[in-house]
Amino acid sequence: MTPHTPPPGDRVPLTCEDIARHNERWIESQFQGMRPLRPARHMAIVACMDSRMPVYQLLGLDYGDAHIIRNAGGVVTDDVIRSLVLSQRAMGTRSIVLLHHTDCGLTKISEDTLRHDLEQATGLAPKFTFEAFRDPYASVRQSIRRLHLSPFLLCKDEILGYVYDVESGRLNQVRLDDETRS
Ligand SMILES: [Zn+2]
Repeated sequence: MTPHTPPPGDRVPLTCEDIARHNERWIESQFQGMRPLRPARHMAIVACMDSRMPVYQLLGLDYGDAHIIRNAGGVVTDDVIRSLVLSQRAMGTRSIVLLHHTDCGLTKISEDTLRHDLEQATGLAPKFTFEAFRDPYASVRQSIRRLHLSPFLLCKDEILGYVYDVESGRLNQVRLDDETRS
């Protein structure tokens, strides 16, 4: 939340002293006390774990506003459905916002190659899929379809999908009937 301009390139991981210092700064400058357990804006956001996508900041949200569920790609998996079911049925959220992005790491791997390499290295083939994709717009549409197919979700009327452009910072909305865009 604090404005700053980190230098480009790799930096070292935070130490426990760094974390303690940043936490104190957060408490002094941003923290406004405990907020209700139920997200104030009744929203759940499913986003890629990419470090360049500051979800709360780019949507103008504050802590307490929305659930954020993140994984590699921001793809809708069974475990994302698990969290969304809890979010909607136990915590009262209604709208779901999907955030994928350009230059995603999942567009740069081959599902078959990675699975093969893992099996060669460990003797085990993973039970999960990595959900590699080429087109983030198509990936958002697939995730929207998976949400519509789930029988467990309470509310599917407010599903919004976006691709975040990591070069411009712009969010581009994706609609199911927008098949021609890539
Ligand atoms: Zn990504």
